[in-house]
Amino acid sequence: MTVLSHWIDGAPAPAPADSRLADIVNPATGVVSGQVPLASAELTRKAVASAAAAFPGWRDTSLSRRTQIVFRFRELLNERKEELAAILTAEHGKVLPDALGEISRGQEVVEFACGMPHLLKGGHTENASTGVDVHSVRQPLGVSVIISPFNFPAMVPMWFFPVAIAAGNTVVLKPSEKDPSAANWMAELWREAGLPEGVFTVVHGDKEAVDALLTDPQVSSVSFVGSTPIAQHVYETAAAHGKRVQALGAAKNHMLVLPDSDLDLAADSAVNAGYGAAGERCMAISVVVAVDSIADELVDKIAERTRTLKVGDGTRGTDMGPLITAAHRDKVAGYIDAGVEAGAKLVLDGRQVSVDADSERAFLNPTLFDRVTPDMSIYTDEIFGPVLCVVRVDSYDEGLALINANPYGNGTAIFTNDGGAARRFENEVQVGMVGVNVPIPVPMAYYSFGGWKNSLFGDTHAHGTEGVHFFTRGKVVTKRWLDPSHGGLNLGFPTNA
Ligand code: NAD
Repeated sequence: MTVLSHWIDGAPAPAPADSRLADIVNPATGVVSGQVPLASAELTRKAVASAAAAFPGWRDTSLSRRTQIVFRFRELLNERKEELAAILTAEHGKVLPDALGEISRGQEVVEFACGMPHLLKGGHTENASTGVDVHSVRQPLGVSVIISPFNFPAMVPMWFFPVAIAAGNTVVLKPSEKDPSAANWMAELWREAGLPEGVFTVVHGDKEAVDALLTDPQVSSVSFVGSTPIAQHVYETAAAHGKRVQALGAAKNHMLVLPDSDLDLAADSAVNAGYGAAGERCMAISVVVAVDSIADELVDKIAERTRTLKVGDGTRGTDMGPLITAAHRDKVAGYIDAGVEAGAKLVLDGRQVSVDADSERAFLNPTLFDRVTPDMSIYTDEIFGPVLCVVRVDSYDEGLALINANPYGNGTAIFTNDGGAARRFENEVQVGMVGVNVPIPVPMAYYSFGGWKNSLFGDTHAHGTEGVHFFTRGKVVTKRWLDPSHGGLNLGFPTNA
């Protein structure tokens, strides 16, 4: 059985013989393709030490040389993205076009980071005081840790590492142990792009590695994406150890459909955003909030479209792949049981599986519930599976109040042809990313990605200018060059004259 290596000092670092190991499973076939080592705290500290040793050299590498390497990484990624997509489909299960879409969104952040020379330009004030000039710079932090979830093994790390690296930091990536191979593939690409040793490091592992990273004195910042309890743990532990932290958590994204909306567009969008990647997207729509007067028609349209979806192995031209593991499939099926028991109307039952795959074990078909109420667990919990819930409301105000009462605030959308209603929604909704007739409003790379409330701990979102700020710290230099007219002692507080 092949055991994946870590990536330390710019090269594969075979796992020590006594490493704990976890299986890497193709969820569409049930076949174990290899094993991933789970790093000890000691090995994790060694990886951080390598990244820390590489920092001074990389920080002092010219900005143009750094961005040339990022640009080369972008070129290689663009040429070879099919290879990476195949890895994503084999370990995560998402269908191939979706894997390519994930890579494209990550690539956009790489392209954004190629503009780092412009993004790092500071300000300059001449003659702020007589003979005194002031300028500001932004400098890299040091070792930046990235801890990523299973659902976007390529895109989520790419939300952070292009910006961190272009800004002059060195990076230690701890990918999800469920689909770890993409990280090594990207590390190899960095090597080919000419990145010096130690600037990009991969440590595979679980809680032991994560906790070693959060407490290591040589780590400067932590960018985490995953479930809310772990995000909170990461935020609190890393902050208590003096690190800058951004910890993105879970989601329960609502789509409010008003009576004047285009119901065909709304139904297409609900299906795409609800069942794409088997609902395992942090920006998936999991709740359709339908104003009662159009709810029957909308549910019919969603059901009609959903029945046409082909479910199966993501390499076989299907629309929707498996869940990440058989255990997660069982957990999601348990939510469907609970929804039925709680009295929601089961319109489509995904537990009746019909799929094109060698193993059915990790699959569910798309499930649609109508007449869901906010006290049901299918509403309160992030299911992270292909289960779409329709909650009926009487009005815009009732729909808005429902969304704002939810403890999560990652993404949301409104479907309407009324510009005034859309404008009110943009202003009033307590959510970080908002779509108007757009169901998955993932911001472009030059804006910043992040939710509110329990969907983000910390105050800095990913990529865009907020990402640049996260991975740098500001310094202001006030300077005077010797001028004989300014000599003499004066112990008073400096004032601007
Ligand atoms: P997870 O929280 O289980 O794991 C995320 C990372 O934390 C992994 O690298 C994992 O190894 C590590 N980890 C797991 N348990 C840990 C522990 N006890 N201590 C320390 N580290 C631990 O999340 P997941 O199941 O991989 O991903 C799905 C979750 O991620 C969902 O909740 C989803 O909403 C969320 N997510 C959020 C966003 C966002 O932008 N807000 C994006 C993608 C995914």
